[in-house]
Amino acid sequence: MSDNNNMKRRQFIKRAAVAGSIAAGAALSPSVYAAKRFNWKLTTTWPPNFPIFQDGVKRFADDVKKMSGGALNIQVFAAGELVPAMQTFDAVSQGTVQMGHGAGYYWIGKIPCAAFFTSVPFGMNAQGMNAWLYSGGGLELWREIYAPHNLVPFPMGNTGVQMGGWFRKEIKSIEDLKGLKMRIPGLGGKVIAKAGVNPVLLAGGEIYTALERGTIDATEWVGPYHDERLGLYRAAKFYYYPGWQEPGPTLELTVNRKAWEDLPAELKMIVETAAMASNMWMLSEFEAKNLDALDKLKNKFNVQVYAFPDDVLRQLRQFTTEVLNEEAEKDKDFKRVLDAYSAFRKTNDAWSVISEAAYARTQSL
Ligand code: CA
Repeated sequence: MSDNNNMKRRQFIKRAAVAGSIAAGAALSPSVYAAKRFNWKLTTTWPPNFPIFQDGVKRFADDVKKMSGGALNIQVFAAGELVPAMQTFDAVSQGTVQMGHGAGYYWIGKIPCAAFFTSVPFGMNAQGMNAWLYSGGGLELWREIYAPHNLVPFPMGNTGVQMGGWFRKEIKSIEDLKGLKMRIPGLGGKVIAKAGVNPVLLAGGEIYTALERGTIDATEWVGPYHDERLGLYRAAKFYYYPGWQEPGPTLELTVNRKAWEDLPAELKMIVETAAMASNMWMLSEFEAKNLDALDKLKNKFNVQVYAFPDDVLRQLRQFTTEVLNEEAEKDKDFKRVLDAYSAFRKTNDAWSVISEAAYARTQSL
């Protein structure tokens, strides 16, 4: 080899090394997972541009992309863009897409106990749910329940305590509920049915028209921030709290198990961490924005905001115990999850008596 060739070779190696380090620096990719890139699809149960929920999912995908230096690129689709909302579970389970976002209680037709991983009437609030899921064995149980469906679930989002719903007349006693046709999904629907309500399930996009036309007499949805955007105040003026039926629903990210197992450990950690961040972000958005929306409903749209009478809540709570016991008798897993949830809840409540609940009381002294 001539000197000239040697020199050219040395220059080439030097340039390649510089180019290599720039590329690595620009992509922020630790070498471990830079070798392979993953292009995934995520389908949600939410309408396009649905605030907080769909926004939170897009944020999550963006976080994952940045943290992984583009090694895991997740394309987000709203309900119906790729998969209809209520087929999200199956699409992720079958690997049509790698990820989904929704709420466990949408799938209670397949897995009755999935309700516990979202929210059950008179159950734990967001803080309790996070404590149970992350630190009280709830997430391990959730993963066990979803494993036969090839799904790995993660908590990702929470609305906080919801509102009780919109009614066209005042609810002064449990008898006032009798005969009403109300949009209220899941276990909440089964509970209120015991008070003589005819519960119906309608997707978000159908609620306003049904209420306005009188197809339904009442509805619950989320809370002031989302309810105002749906225009429900134009069809019913009595807005009740608290949302006994959904005291702190956790939303879920699901990942196809095979896809999950193919990810390097670093990318798994990134997904887990980004989902946790998104879980916190969505709850914070609700906590920060609901009161302004409620004030607007009251002051601008003359909505009457009432608390459910204690007797009504006491009766609904009694019905809830009956429904949970009835469901537990029908389904082994439901009983198992109910027992685990109830055991944790007991501890959580006992601690709350001298922490959260005791502190809240100081504010009204
Ligand atoms: Ca709701």
